[in-house]
Amino acid sequence: MTTIDDLPVRDELRGQSPYGAPQLDVPVQLNTNENPYPLPEELVARIAERVAEAARHLNRYPDRDAVELREGLAAYLTRTTGYAVARENVWAANGSNEVLQQLLQTFGGPDRTALGFEPSYSMHALISRGTGTGWISGPRNDDFTIDLDAAVAAIAEHRPHVLFVCSPNNPTGTAVAADTVLRLYEAAQAARPSLVVVDEAYVEFSHRPSLLSLIEGRPNLVVTRTMSKAFGAAGLRLGYLAADPAVVDAVQLVRLPYHLSAVTQATALACLEHTDTLLGYVGRLKDERDRLVGALRGLGLEVTDSDANFVQFGRFTDTHAVWRAILDRGVLVRDNGVPGWLRVTAGTPAENDAFLAAVATVIKELY
Ligand code: PMP
Repeated sequence: MTTIDDLPVRDELRGQSPYGAPQLDVPVQLNTNENPYPLPEELVARIAERVAEAARHLNRYPDRDAVELREGLAAYLTRTTGYAVARENVWAANGSNEVLQQLLQTFGGPDRTALGFEPSYSMHALISRGTGTGWISGPRNDDFTIDLDAAVAAIAEHRPHVLFVCSPNNPTGTAVAADTVLRLYEAAQAARPSLVVVDEAYVEFSHRPSLLSLIEGRPNLVVTRTMSKAFGAAGLRLGYLAADPAVVDAVQLVRLPYHLSAVTQATALACLEHTDTLLGYVGRLKDERDRLVGALRGLGLEVTDSDANFVQFGRFTDTHAVWRAILDRGVLVRDNGVPGWLRVTAGTPAENDAFLAAVATVIKELY
């Protein structure tokens, strides 16, 4: 049988594994940080309406610049953060993963490096490698906050072309303070002109405000966002960024023509019309997240403070055995490979109850 190793693939891809959260068919799926609430029926109807209208023009390519959608996203950011951005500041693509890929194609690439503080979102490293960008793993404190002195030292030593700051961080849930981001930005710019990417995929769930206003006067700072989490639309594949208009111009150099289908644009616009309803679910999920943190601590477990829609809990000597035992009780959580720790996504109250009951049984049996 032919394997990848038999093919003439690029050297840096040899021995790598693809991104692969298991998609198992179990009753309670709390492993990929999705929103557990399906879109409300009136939004489903509105999507059907908008998509039907788009379908009447599918013989034509979509709006290449996604003007109406970028205007809607800019209005959403302005309204929810209080920091005014315009369409020129915003760019959208198929999930924030594609936004990140476009940024790395533009600002990373062969002979360039990207640095992130691990554990963090594994795709930062994977997309870096996929775009030929060297990956450098930066340090964190034991409590998963960023060790500022060590971070500044790593930046000075490696002089990365792209720096990732994930806030709230996946998989730990840790938010990063604005003054920490500013120190990192200054350190990065002192080392060389470089792009600082603040990944705010989970920011709507945070106790802290968005870091969006940090783009003011900092053309090398980009904030990335997604509709996969707070908008409950992971299946839509719509991510976006906010930055200086020059960054938006720069990513045009690498984006594929007509990358965002008319169907995607129409669906995202319908979702934006229902922002308030969807943010209502976010409020419920934040309460559930806080409940999970309290309940897991009540079971005697260690729990990392969370500003996201998921919670990191531990510590286990045999993490995989605990993951497996929870799965045997019908609940799928995530083993991100952080030694001793697992991650659970906040689900509906009933799903979270099922998870907590499973964990209580498992730790009694195994510990
Ligand atoms: N950033 C972070 C930190 C994430 O956890 C994820 C999804 N798990 C993404 C970006 C990508 O999300 P999407 O491509 O669905 O927008």
